[in-house]
Amino acid sequence: MQTIRGFRDILPEQIRLWQKVENLAVELFNAYGYQEIRIPILEKTGLFARSIGETTDIVEKEMYTFDDRNGDKLTLRPEATASICRAYIQHKLYATEPVRKFYMTGPMFRRERPQKGRYRQFYQIDAEVFGVDSAYVDCELIFLLHQLFKRLGLTGLTAQINSLGCPECRPKFTRALLDFLEERKQDLCEICTRRMTRNPLRVLDCKIQTCQAALIGAPATVDHLCPACEDHFNIVKTTLEKQGVDFSVNNSLVRGLDYYTRTAWEIQTTSLGAQSAVAGGGRYDGLVKQLGGPDTPAIGFAIGFDRLVEIMEQLTPMPADPGADLFIVALGDAAMETAYHLSCDLNQAGIKTDTDFRGKSLKALMKRADKLNARYVLIAGQTELNDNALILRNMKTKEQVSISMDRLVPEIEAVLKHK
Ligand code: AMP
Repeated sequence: MQTIRGFRDILPEQIRLWQKVENLAVELFNAYGYQEIRIPILEKTGLFARSIGETTDIVEKEMYTFDDRNGDKLTLRPEATASICRAYIQHKLYATEPVRKFYMTGPMFRRERPQKGRYRQFYQIDAEVFGVDSAYVDCELIFLLHQLFKRLGLTGLTAQINSLGCPECRPKFTRALLDFLEERKQDLCEICTRRMTRNPLRVLDCKIQTCQAALIGAPATVDHLCPACEDHFNIVKTTLEKQGVDFSVNNSLVRGLDYYTRTAWEIQTTSLGAQSAVAGGGRYDGLVKQLGGPDTPAIGFAIGFDRLVEIMEQLTPMPADPGADLFIVALGDAAMETAYHLSCDLNQAGIKTDTDFRGKSLKALMKRADKLNARYVLIAGQTELNDNALILRNMKTKEQVSISMDRLVPEIEAVLKHK
């Protein structure tokens, strides 16, 4: 049996980088006042169709959707924002606190073509802020991401930013864009001609070269912003500049989802040579209301956890396994019984203790202690049991002391905690 295409196991040998990233992210989230939220992996399909947008790639062709036994249409979550909005509305989280900041980590599911760095089950670290429309929140999120990546050792970090406007200025922009596209329709790919009628902003995002060439000189959202959106975007730019975040305004950055308004961004790194996006985010001031909640400004980002770890695998060595504090070498059945109880007691006391019940020789067990990188070895052979005292050996200094069986746990605790 094998994993299905685009799905994979993350093995203990690989996990320490994942933990390093997650620990640092959580540390930063806590410092910034974000609270963890956990949301279901499965939701009603309508939630994603209504929020992400019926004409987006995700909803049109990438969702894992199936009929439940009672006929409900369900979907494995392709992203977190829609579910967090649903939770925010369902539990009236706005009623207790006007401003809420959440983070979550977990798997997302999209039926994309699998390739290096792209999976059908992939992981995201996600943050969302509800209740503030100030541009400083946009900056806080971009700055937080920048700091996280910097601390993880990524280099060549830039934020590509854009403003997508709001319901007031967007229609005017869309009209200007459509006029432009209409004249170049024959040069656009088939998907883009379809997008023109259904979701014209997404044409700007097309990666096909002929479309890119046809789009040279296309109107930019930033030139069509209403005064409020313009002020908002100016604050984002001046603040990021003051904070030393390297950014550039990218007129074709529209992000693939329908719900974005105003600031949208991607964080790129050149750590591995070519530019690659490790996180993306944006404001979605209309989404909570659209999903049936109160009119609430909101904004969030998602970090591509898989890609981030793949970059870090190239940049930094895997953090070392901290190893065991103590390995008990138990020779013979009576010693094994003693070793079993002792290791349980020491584990309870918070001392990382390991032993081996396979009845191996002294030589084999010492080898195993080395492999486990144990700091100390406790030797329990027949002679030691007869003497009612076991030998504790410091694996680095090779010093040995004899410890009475009656005082094993406190004495070992004292030695190990002292060092
Ligand atoms: P998005 O939710 O599409 O804005 O994506 C946010 C981040 O998730 C991106 O920067 C990617 O690094 C990552 N991501 C999106 N789709 C996949 C995928 N299929 N496999 C791995 N990472 C992904």
